[in-house]
Amino acid sequence: MATTSRAASSTSKPPGLEVGLTGGIGSGKTAVANMFAALGAAIIDSDAIAHALTVAHGAAIDAIGREFGDEYIGADGALDRRKMRDRVFRDQSAKARLEAILHPRIREQASEQAKAAIGCAPFVVFVVPLLIETRTAGHRMERLLVVDCSPTTQVARVCARSGLDAELVRSIIAQQASRSERLDAADDVLVNEGPLEMLRPRVQRLHSRYCEIARERAGCV
Ligand code: ATP
Repeated sequence: MATTSRAASSTSKPPGLEVGLTGGIGSGKTAVANMFAALGAAIIDSDAIAHALTVAHGAAIDAIGREFGDEYIGADGALDRRKMRDRVFRDQSAKARLEAILHPRIREQASEQAKAAIGCAPFVVFVVPLLIETRTAGHRMERLLVVDCSPTTQVARVCARSGLDAELVRSIIAQQASRSERLDAADDVLVNEGPLEMLRPRVQRLHSRYCEIARERAGCV
């Protein structure tokens, strides 16, 4: 579930640099985020927050039950993910209603996590898979970083990782923002073709650049 967007600015921002990290399915967002984390950046993952909101007793469970009915909540008290996925896949208005519940809560928690991270890390990376698709929502990123690779590579990676059918992966890619939409919106692009070892030095260079920007913004240089 996507949360944040660089579209609208906030007037009461904490100091520090906020980087939005996005890319299509299987592009390598997690790989990049892990490399930034190893270098000391704070990582805030919107999918992980969405998941935590919808486990048993999660902060969005009551609202989802009220909106969709208790049949969408499993016996264990967690969201019935498969049932909800099926519903929103075929019903755009249900998707919008679910997002109206989740997105503000995800934004709030992401913002709390960012505040806690500022001062401990040189900059914060928000991993938001659908950042381009949802950028009319209300939180601004100073930099938008796109992880890019060809659709052929995306399909190969996702099939190898999860055993999903290639046709299904292609249909998921078709529902996401296009490669050119992402690249048009990007401030920075990390090309993730070839082995992961080729990605690491690119992430390191960008990490140094982001540290420099964060220092400039803090008036330290
Ligand atoms: P998703 O959107 O599905 O969550 P993602 O964008 O976070 O995916 P990753 O999970 O980082 O992508 O990568 C997808 C798969 O491809 C993983 O199994 C990962 O190990 C592998 N992978 C990523 N980059 C490379 C690479 N350069 N070479 C080989 N395998 C890679």
